[in-house]
Amino acid sequence: MTTTRIDGKAVAASLRAQVAAAVGQLGVKPGLAVVLIGEDPASQVYVRNKIKACEEAGIASFHHTLPVETGQADLLALLDRLNADAAVHGILVQLPLPAHIDEQTVIERIDPAKDVDGFHPVNVGKLSLGLPALEPCTPRGCVILAKSVRDDLTGLHAVIVGRSNIVGKPMAQMLLAANCTVTIAHSRTRDLAAVCRQADVLVAAVGRPRMIEGGWVKPGAIVLDVGINRIPREDGSGKTRLVGDVDYAEAAEVAGAITPVPGGVGPMTIACLLRNTVIAASRLAGETVPASIADH
Ligand code: NDP
Repeated sequence: MTTTRIDGKAVAASLRAQVAAAVGQLGVKPGLAVVLIGEDPASQVYVRNKIKACEEAGIASFHHTLPVETGQADLLALLDRLNADAAVHGILVQLPLPAHIDEQTVIERIDPAKDVDGFHPVNVGKLSLGLPALEPCTPRGCVILAKSVRDDLTGLHAVIVGRSNIVGKPMAQMLLAANCTVTIAHSRTRDLAAVCRQADVLVAAVGRPRMIEGGWVKPGAIVLDVGINRIPREDGSGKTRLVGDVDYAEAAEVAGAITPVPGGVGPMTIACLLRNTVIAASRLAGETVPASIADH
């Protein structure tokens, strides 16, 4: 069987170009505020990448780095200022937060109209009701990748492994909205391999390196691997490398299309964040969301 390797970098680059073009059509300059607490190196890299991507798309970025000992009240006060700032259309608080800060309280303090992560209960509710919402970036990226190889997902059986609030659950809502028949599997699912084997669209969002074996994949399936796992290199160098939740080499023998890790779902997350920022800016300015990015 010929397997398509879904090139997330290329699809993300195309979306970012569409976002940049959409920015040019708007009457306002979209602005994204990124808030980082502490000096976690991985989070610093994510934030730097987000700011660079904003610049390339013509989106203003406002970077707030706070010391790790910042209290919750001070963070909430900053969010209140950003909520009120007309130059800021999107607010992203880089997760995870230090243990002394309650994540849900922080998420709920962000104005839902500026919640470009799509984690606020108002946006979660709107997504489940099928109303226009700011949608979580990673699952939206997965849908765009699936549609890059199959325009119409109607009637396909989608199995999502993982039920987190940021990936698994919103993924299920989006694939339901795309007319899939949806199964959500998790750590208590019985005979996970058999459940996965039913999937025309298989989404892995678990966080366990190469857990999904080739024998779990239905021939011809679209496999979307969200997992990002760092494992030691096999060469004994002491260095690490990234792998997904799917055993790529095995699954690629069976799947119709599959995303690699890295270079699959990952690049889509930032592209969808930029898209959300432009959607938020359009709506806040009372302008129509440019069709080129609204259609995804
Ligand atoms: P969570 O840890 O929040 O959720 C993991 C889910 O996997 C849970 O629902 C859990 O089930 C389920 N699970 C755990 N073990 C098993 C098992 N043995 N069998 C079946 N299901 C299992 O993770 P996230 O959703 O936040 O992230 C998942 C992965 O995606 C991670 O590797 C993360 O790094 C990556 N990720 C990648 C992003 C990207 O941009 N590409 C963005 C976000 C995440 P239960 O609920 O029963 O515990």
